[in-house]
Amino acid sequence: MKAWSRRTSGPVTKRHRGAADDPAIWIQRSIDAMLSPGRPAPFPRLLLLWVFGSAALGGLSLICFAIGLNFTTVAFILLITIVLLSLLDSLISSAVFSTVAVLLLNYLFVDPLYTFAVGDIRDLVALASFLCTSLAVTALVRRVCALEIRHRDQASLLDLTTDAVFVRDGNDVITFWNRGAEALYGWEAKEAVGQVADRLLRTEFPVSPADINAAMLQGGHWEGELVHIARDGRRLRVASRWSRQLNANRKPIGTLESSSDVTEHRRSEDALHRSQAAYLAEAQKLSQTGSFGWNAESGEIFWSDETFRIFELDPRKTPSLDTVLARTHPDDREAVRAQLDRAARERNDFAHEHRLLMADGTVKHLRVVARRMTDDPDRVQFVGAVMDVTAQKQANADLERSEQRYRHLFSRMPIALWQLDASRLVEMFRELRAQGVTDLSRYIDEHPDFVAACMDALIHQEANDRAVQMFGARDAGDFVGQPVSYAWRENPDTFRRAMESRYNGHISFEEETRLSTLDGRVLDVHFTASRVGPINDLEASLVSAIDISGRIRAQERLHQVQADFAHAARVAMLGELTASMAHEINQPLAAIATNGAVSLRWLDRPDPDLSELKDITESIVSDARRAADIVARVRMMASRKAPERLALSIDDVVRDALLFLRNEIKSRAVIVVHRELAGAPPVLGDRTQLQQVIVNLAINAMQAMAQQHDRERRIAISTEVLDSRALRCTVEDNGPGIRPEYAGRLFESFFTTKDNGMGMGLPICRSIIEAHGGKISAGSADGGGARFCFTLPTTTLPTTAGSEAKM
Ligand code: ADP
Repeated sequence: MKAWSRRTSGPVTKRHRGAADDPAIWIQRSIDAMLSPGRPAPFPRLLLLWVFGSAALGGLSLICFAIGLNFTTVAFILLITIVLLSLLDSLISSAVFSTVAVLLLNYLFVDPLYTFAVGDIRDLVALASFLCTSLAVTALVRRVCALEIRHRDQASLLDLTTDAVFVRDGNDVITFWNRGAEALYGWEAKEAVGQVADRLLRTEFPVSPADINAAMLQGGHWEGELVHIARDGRRLRVASRWSRQLNANRKPIGTLESSSDVTEHRRSEDALHRSQAAYLAEAQKLSQTGSFGWNAESGEIFWSDETFRIFELDPRKTPSLDTVLARTHPDDREAVRAQLDRAARERNDFAHEHRLLMADGTVKHLRVVARRMTDDPDRVQFVGAVMDVTAQKQANADLERSEQRYRHLFSRMPIALWQLDASRLVEMFRELRAQGVTDLSRYIDEHPDFVAACMDALIHQEANDRAVQMFGARDAGDFVGQPVSYAWRENPDTFRRAMESRYNGHISFEEETRLSTLDGRVLDVHFTASRVGPINDLEASLVSAIDISGRIRAQERLHQVQADFAHAARVAMLGELTASMAHEINQPLAAIATNGAVSLRWLDRPDPDLSELKDITESIVSDARRAADIVARVRMMASRKAPERLALSIDDVVRDALLFLRNEIKSRAVIVVHRELAGAPPVLGDRTQLQQVIVNLAINAMQAMAQQHDRERRIAISTEVLDSRALRCTVEDNGPGIRPEYAGRLFESFFTTKDNGMGMGLPICRSIIEAHGGKISAGSADGGGARFCFTLPTTTLPTTAGSEAKM
């Protein structure tokens, strides 16, 4: 291309210099003209050419004449000269030069010599033949030149493309090699032309050259990717297009091969494919899914690596239907064979599950899905996936087993169980939250109907056998679809608390309560509700009820026994206190008797002083009341009535107990300090039982200090608020205290360190306090004596007036 540019640019540059008649320019133009036949030269130059040509012919003729060459030889020399001259211009010049040559031959070599006459007709024929030959040969040569130039022009056009273009002839020898080929392969045209193409380029064909030939013969061209080795050893992948050139007889005369370098493109594509293939292989491995292709006509099968792995077969082996069937579990083999036959016959997509029996005897479960490829309607090809679903099957079986276990447990549990659909309730709660309600308790206070709405929104989904039996249903169907409201007629407060607990996000709730059965009975139950899953979307609840009627009755009986026992202990204690009681009663009775005698004496006076008599009678009444009060307190202690729960001031109870022990305290010379707590909240309890606790603790303290003669005997009773929900009452003395080895046994029944003790005082105190919801404990007082503390829950109810006896 560059060479051609150099050739064409020369004259243009000189013309611009304006040296039109420079001989060098003339020659150059002549050469141009020679190489561009058909383009007539300008007339002055033509004239010059004719003169110069004629002179040359003349000169040559004279030289030949002088050396005595014959007509034929000279004619041949002139013919060559004409041919050469004719290349400098058009056919007209050829005609001019041929005519000049004929004239010269006639003049110098045809008799008569030195004339233009022709004596012999044969000479005329010879001259005419020369003229014709000259014209024909010059025309022919010019034509060949024109063809050559056109060929070169076209070839130079091929230099414009960056593709590597070369032409190989019928023997695969390179006849043309463009600049693109030079740049790509590294050989210059002059080195490449004449070489056998595939030997030079060490071509690697994707298909056999015979196939390429066949394609060329059929369509005249072939396209594909080849590998060529460049001069420097680089391995080039080229996208190649081959076009076969045929002659007029449709015989191949050469092959134009145009190739572009796709090495980099393929490399990045390969890298991409490799990474995609790697991803695909990894994905297949992860999902335990292999792929396959199946040509149902040829029986050809393609398997991915993962399919080989699933079948546990060597990937170097070629799989076949027999391979598949051999691996298939014998029990499934016929079904698989029938399925594949049907798919091939009906040409339909298919899917099935079957088992493989592996070499080591293990069984795999496969799911096979295949789709017929529709790109070629004449071929029956399937592409599909093979999934190893063994683990999934196993998991499903496990799940099923666990589900069955759960079902079994659910239905056979010896406690009543229900599954509730809470979706409507969840929706109601969601709406409340959207309204900004955070305190459900307050909301229910303001909207009492909400509890009933909640009951209606909770629907039974399932119930177990125990629930059916406990709640008087015929079968579980009696519950299904029913709202839970029937159960809460007796104790809706528990349901309300359960709702509040759910609203507050607690995943479970339990309470002892009473539930109504379907047949109208009321059961004491331990009720639990469990909500499974994220708390705000709990759409199902599992509730249970354990019948505790028996336990409640037993508890009631136990309480009764405890009350009886406490009563017996009180009576026993009264027995212990008989002496001091008798003494206490004796005092007012003695005073009454004395005052009565005095009164009688005064009445015997002739003029009794009525005012004195009135005073003394009042004194008698007062003493009688005192005695009656003491008797009343003893009777109260001895009374046997069912325990009751009243709001009491604990300090009132302590005061009553101390009144009761007044004489005992006095006779034992004990100082009792009662530190009352002004404004203490009331406790809920039985007055007599709580008095009994104080009396027991005080008597124990007095008995412990009985041998204490060296220092005063002191008992301190105090009350304090423990927290917002409980009070603590402490009874401490300054006696010998509790010996460490006894500390853990004090509340055991019948534990006593006293000769005539029963060991029931403290156990009774504990049962009374615990029945009141409190706790009792023993420890050491600061001064070394014993300290007994008990707590009691407080109540907000107003205090009930006590039956205080006055002294
Ligand atoms: P009893 O008084 O019949 O022995 P209790 O159950 O009332 O039965 O007391 C059990 C034991 O606790 C007593 O025997 C005594 O050893 C010990 N005890 C109780 N109160 C005190 C106290 N204030 N100081 C020392 N020991 C005490």
